Amino acid sequence: MSVLTMQNPATGEILGSLEEATPDQVRQAVQKARAAHPAWSATPLSDRVAYLSRLRHYLVEHGEDLAQRISQDTGKVHFEAYMTEIFVTIDTIRFYEKHAEKMLAKQKVPTPLLLWPKKSYIHYKPMGVVAVISPWNYPFQLAVIPVLSALIAGNTVVLKPSEVTAATGLIIEELFRAVPLPEGVIRVLHGGREVGQELVAARPDKIFFTGSVRTGKKIMAAAAEHLIPVELELGGKDPMIVCSDAPLERAANAAVWGAFTNAGQVCMSVERVFVHESVHDRFVELVTQKTKALRQGHPTGAEVGSMTFPDQREIVAQHVKEAVAEGATAVLGGNFPADDMFMPPTILTNVTPDMKIMQEETFGPVLPIMRVSTEQEAIELANRSPYGLNASVWSENRARARHLAEQLESGNVCINDVIISFANPHLPFGGVKESGIGRYRGPLSLQSFTHSISIIHDPGKRNRELNWYPYTEDQLTMMTGVTNLLYGKNRKWNFNALGAIWRELRRLRE
Ligand code: NAD
Repeated sequence: MSVLTMQNPATGEILGSLEEATPDQVRQAVQKARAAHPAWSATPLSDRVAYLSRLRHYLVEHGEDLAQRISQDTGKVHFEAYMTEIFVTIDTIRFYEKHAEKMLAKQKVPTPLLLWPKKSYIHYKPMGVVAVISPWNYPFQLAVIPVLSALIAGNTVVLKPSEVTAATGLIIEELFRAVPLPEGVIRVLHGGREVGQELVAARPDKIFFTGSVRTGKKIMAAAAEHLIPVELELGGKDPMIVCSDAPLERAANAAVWGAFTNAGQVCMSVERVFVHESVHDRFVELVTQKTKALRQGHPTGAEVGSMTFPDQREIVAQHVKEAVAEGATAVLGGNFPADDMFMPPTILTNVTPDMKIMQEETFGPVLPIMRVSTEQEAIELANRSPYGLNASVWSENRARARHLAEQLESGNVCINDVIISFANPHLPFGGVKESGIGRYRGPLSLQSFTHSISIIHDPGKRNRELNWYPYTEDQLTMMTGVTNLLYGKNRKWNFNALGAIWRELRRLRE
């Protein structure tokens, strides 16, 4: 049995150790979840929602403690841990408390006249066992929100949190013990890649994955073996487009926050900035001045925390080193002492679109800025990426901003703001291109954890239908007549067809 060591990345302090789940434990967890599913899916939605309220109260009461422990596990500053892990979760729970009944209610749909006297509706049926596999950058909310979405929709859930932030996995397990659910309804399995692979191989009924593009593709390939539906929330290389009429002070504040919050380890970080040449120099001056004022440290009284995952630190350092070697200028930062998990916020100018720093996800505190001569050039460069998660457009001209926003190949776009689209639970969240498949949050946030079952209901009073056996010549005459009448250019009655319809209607009564 492998053991995971939990360590505070900011201080090096060992937080404890944890045993990884064995393949048998993974299979048993899925079996237990399957056994628990019929009773849980039959539990009235009002009871499931009442569970959410209990959980919300617990989180409000213990949120600060939990945020402190998440800080220790990740190196993020305390305020960010509270705001982006605890508050966002509580806010989403409230959204579900208010809207779950409506989102999951049977939905009546119109039935065309030709199908009279039938009635039609959609029933949202839980899928069964949902596997949630989550990453280390927001290890609490990116695990708990999908888990709760799946549970409220009537599924049972097996969660595998990231091994990099195993201590937060433990916090989540404790949370579900403190506010308990019936046996088997939610299970947390600790461990790394192998445990994730075993979970996929155990054939859950849906996989909700958040993580890297590389892993997402592997999971989708493995899931394809059994046609298991997957939802993939993957990486990004988010562009920020600063137009000549941008509110520059606000844009500079946003760039600094958007690039350095959570030490840049955000799937929606500002990772590429395209600034119109008329405001470029002033923008660089402003972001440099604002970045110099940032306080780096841990966990309270600071603004930028440490990196969470040592391997990521190496990727960030490599991207910056290569960019500088290829001609980029480090206006600020750029020197990363070996093994120091506190990477100084770095601003790069003179970057070019083909540099790795402008192509691949850096996922660290780096803000590369490029000068452009037109907005169209900015759009073209922004779209020249395999990713499409989030983006931002900066302009005081409403029509121009919206026109540019709609040209971006991105699942989410903010105008005169960054990252914030995720904070509105009414908006769907997800990527295009290699940033992912599927949407969660928004009006479909619960339906995406269900099968939409189409139900059509005939009163059953007649012995047969007009299109059933035995076939007659009249049926074809009737069909062509009806097609002409309903869909033809001239929409004319055809007397042969009328006769055929009359005879067929009479035959119905026999
Ligand atoms: P990762 O892909 O390395 O790991 C994610 C999870 O998958 C972990 O729990 C890991 O143990 C598990 N895993 C790894 N290999 C597996 C396999 N073969 N089968 C099953 N499970 C496996 O990602 P990460 O480094 O933890 O997270 C960072 C990435 O996540 C970044 O690319 C970031 O942009 C992305 N991300 C995306 C979103 C989003 O909502 N789109 C949010 C946060 C992070």
